[in-house]
Amino acid sequence: MRPFDFTQAESLSQAAMLASGTGQGQTDAATQFLAGGTSLIDLMKLDVLRPRRLVGLSGLRDANERIELNGRELRLGGFAKMAAVARHPLVLAHCPAVAQSLALAASAQLRNMATLGGNVLQKTRCTYYRDATWAACNKRSPGSGCAALAGFNRNHAILGVDGSCIAQYPGDLGVVFAALDAQLDLLGPSGTRQIPFTALHTLAMNRPHIETTLREGEIITQFRLPVGALTRRSVYVKVRDRASYEFAISSAAVALEVEGGVVRQARIGLGGMAYKPWRSLEGEQALSGKPLTEATMAAAATAALASAKTHGFNDYKPELGRRTLVRALQEAQAMTPAREA
Ligand code: SF4
Repeated sequence: MRPFDFTQAESLSQAAMLASGTGQGQTDAATQFLAGGTSLIDLMKLDVLRPRRLVGLSGLRDANERIELNGRELRLGGFAKMAAVARHPLVLAHCPAVAQSLALAASAQLRNMATLGGNVLQKTRCTYYRDATWAACNKRSPGSGCAALAGFNRNHAILGVDGSCIAQYPGDLGVVFAALDAQLDLLGPSGTRQIPFTALHTLAMNRPHIETTLREGEIITQFRLPVGALTRRSVYVKVRDRASYEFAISSAAVALEVEGGVVRQARIGLGGMAYKPWRSLEGEQALSGKPLTEATMAAAATAALASAKTHGFNDYKPELGRRTLVRALQEAQAMTPAREA
């Protein structure tokens, strides 16, 4: 690991100012925030990220670890630990898909350390990105090409990809947030602002080294999730090569509001398949107002994967993605949601 300076911030405002004007937040930024550190330190050891300065946020967590219900809004602090959120009664009752996505992620040790904010910002697991001896990686080294296009791309994305990068977004929680209209509260050098979660991550569009719409110095302070009958009937299904401590090769987040066997509202997110946390409006439209049958589930899955683009080793993914989504819809149909308090 390369030498770096470390500054412990005394407040979030100070942290934001310290990172202002540094390119913070993007792949090649000289200054990075250190919260749980479970992703950043890993990539520094691999010499993929080379910040010259880390700004520590760890002493500032308390006020930003809240998990609370405010009316019909579930509020999750940006510094809340994955494990704490996964087992919280409010989360389990009002949005089980959030709890499931966190419980199925990483290892117990990592879930005890990692924060929600860091989790949704985690970097791709593309092996060519994480191995700095590969020269061609537009995400790590802009303009250098993409080794995965003609390489071993079994785990790479098939939705939202272009010729500059086919990296797969590796997270679980982000897929649920994308499906369920989560909002973000941000604090930066110029004050606070709110954005929809779906506006956080960007598509590659020939500049895959730019990964988010965060402005320099901005910190995720809170996630806000509208909850109700829809989110109480929500599930997260994850398919992976081994049963634990593994990233998804396919996942689906589903929420359903069903009345008399007919779908009043549906939300669909796909993971392990896409360049960014993926919401499938096409899949949702295929279900909305229809009876929830095997046929409509299959139609929704077909619509959700219709724009898939494969690159050889990942030709299996569209079918796996369809089956994962159908399974998630079946599980959501079969579940007994918590009663409204
Ligand atoms: Fe780099 Fe993206 Fe290509 Fe992977 S898929 S080698 S991250 S440009």
